[in-house]
Amino acid sequence: MTADFFANQRFKQLDVSCLAAETRFAFTIDVEEWFQVGAFETTFERSKWSSLESRAKTQTTILLELLAALNIKATFFTLGWIAEKFPETLKEIVAGGHRLACHGMDHQRLYKMTQTEFAEDIQKAKGLIEQHSQTSVVGYRAPSFSLTPEVWWVYEELEKAGFGYSSSLYPVKTDHYGALNAPRTAFHPIDGSDILEIPMSVCDLPLKRLPASGGGYFRLLPYFLSKYMLEKAKRQTRTPSIFYMHPWELDTDQPYIKSAPRLSRFRHYTGQAGLPDKLTQLSKSFKWAPVEEIYAPLLNGSSERQQC
Ligand SMILES: [Zn+2]
Repeated sequence: MTADFFANQRFKQLDVSCLAAETRFAFTIDVEEWFQVGAFETTFERSKWSSLESRAKTQTTILLELLAALNIKATFFTLGWIAEKFPETLKEIVAGGHRLACHGMDHQRLYKMTQTEFAEDIQKAKGLIEQHSQTSVVGYRAPSFSLTPEVWWVYEELEKAGFGYSSSLYPVKTDHYGALNAPRTAFHPIDGSDILEIPMSVCDLPLKRLPASGGGYFRLLPYFLSKYMLEKAKRQTRTPSIFYMHPWELDTDQPYIKSAPRLSRFRHYTGQAGLPDKLTQLSKSFKWAPVEEIYAPLLNGSSERQQC
């Protein structure tokens, strides 16, 4: 279904040429606990979460300090779960000059929810983040990039809940996520609606398309390759690339879960110690800004909105 859904190119009409001159890239962070990640979803039952060591507050503070030192401003896609438990963390994020966005309530993959459950999930999460940060939230990112054609109604609910954009599609196929044939540049997923989907960055190489937006790959690959892919993605799409990471990736003291599958452990722990150095290099290679600033020309309600 996925290939057919995107094959008629009906989503590729949006003119994004006004972003071609933009020299900044978008820096994004998904704020969640180390045990809520997709790689551990078969290891920890949700009912056990409350017994696990919470580290998100400290991890986010450490990341905020590093971003301040590197002069990087970002969008923090935050779980409602985090907003409820650590309202002061949201205030810290805003005080650092960053933007808050929504990552859902508790990291449930979208296809595990009904439309009604999803509507409740985002309304609750958005409400908590806005209430505790006193800022308005317009951005959304699906947990584990789980937005697929099968749950396209997600966009209707996002629009109803007052979101302006989603950055949830990854136009690549991995064993874990992806919507291979999705557009690579921002588009309107619903006809006649202003809501935008801003896809993650991918890089087309002669034989293969690779994810270029960081995540685990940024820790696993040598820095020059990540830099090359971010640059190439920008050249191929003539729009700014998007980078993403998580606060837990910097935390080398987090519990090591021997009982997790080998691949999950590899994904989660490899390259953590080298991450601060790589982020420093990233801050020197590119200029960074929150999604909301870079995409202001295309976002409904933005004072900078313009026609491309
Ligand atoms: Zn996440």
